[in-house]
Amino acid sequence: NRVYKITLIEGDGIGHEVIPAARTVLEATGLSFVFDEAEAGWETFERIGTSVPEETVEKIERSDATLFGAATSPTKKVEGFFGAIRYLRRRLDLFANVRPAKYHPVPGATPGTDLIVVRENTEGLYVEQERRYARGRVAIADRVITYDASYRIVEFALELAERRRGQLALVHKANVLPLSDGLFLEAAYDAAKRHPTVEIEEVIVDACAMRLVRDPSQFDVLVMENLFGDIISDLTAGLVGGLGIAPSGNIGERAAIFEPVHGSAPDIAGKGIANPTATILSAAMMLDHLGESRVARVIEEAVDRVLESGPRTPDLGGRATTQEFAEAVAAKVQELLSA
Ligand code: NAD
Ligand code: MN
Repeated sequence: NRVYKITLIEGDGIGHEVIPAARTVLEATGLSFVFDEAEAGWETFERIGTSVPEETVEKIERSDATLFGAATSPTKKVEGFFGAIRYLRRRLDLFANVRPAKYHPVPGATPGTDLIVVRENTEGLYVEQERRYARGRVAIADRVITYDASYRIVEFALELAERRRGQLALVHKANVLPLSDGLFLEAAYDAAKRHPTVEIEEVIVDACAMRLVRDPSQFDVLVMENLFGDIISDLTAGLVGGLGIAPSGNIGERAAIFEPVHGSAPDIAGKGIANPTATILSAAMMLDHLGESRVARVIEEAVDRVLESGPRTPDLGGRATTQEFAEAVAAKVQELLSA
């Protein structure tokens, strides 16, 4: 029986509530974990002058996987501050941002949705190279697309598709950007040669947005560059009920960090009413990544059962606290595992 080393980073705001909730569920699985707490985010910056201490990076690198809550970013520029999760993505080369959108029984969710958006996490417009010209009246932002990063992200998506329904949508805008998005497609087809069983479809990004809204069930895995992935994955999170339930993973060769898509929610922080579903589902993704797919499915099943008939948090119209919801899921996990 393996012992998994998991780094837990609460971060800021409701991170302090949703991470302990997810831990409650992980501890109900019967798997063996050693949890190591680390710090990052705004509160850390205020206390010690950096949002990601070196010790945190080391802990993440030494562990099998990391579960991250949320970090606050000030809206104004603060000298010396940088966003914790963006820094960690770059520092640890977490090149794949994985965002599943799967139907769960919550208000507004589209039944039949079961797709994964794979977003390239290291380049595109996020190289953050902007300049102004013409006395400030013209601005240019570089959008970097490389063959190697495109090949690597499509290879990742192909392997994911092979473990699912075997369909991969290559999302692009090569009709307008034949040199850059054309390069993305060139790398994609080179990678696809080694995965002949995956059915490939090219979809132009704007048409992709429309088709997703009309009928998300037609998609399995979608892969795209950084900005397209940022926007399309928020759209798909909306399709399945929004922020309270959307999980994600940031995956690289040396490390993997799983986190809810939502932020630190300062408006409800400290009240014990945050919905921990997104973080619990992120923990399930983490177990899947560690090879514990069966237990991951059990957690998802337990979450659905509790969402259907158990206590709900206020954002879903209920009156349960964060920890009450987590305890109901934990009890359901134990019940399903012993059945
Ligand atoms: P947010 O996701 O924190 O909150 C948006 C709205 O959704 C709020 O009304 C909040 O109460 C609600 N909400 C979010 N998660 C919820 C949950 N689990 N249960 C119930 N309600 C929930 O986004 P924001 O308000 O734009 O940002 C707040 C802070 O979080 C900012 O400092 C921002 O920079 C940061 N942020 C961090 C991340 C991250 O850590 N990955 C992501 C987005 C925003
Ligand atoms: Mn976003």
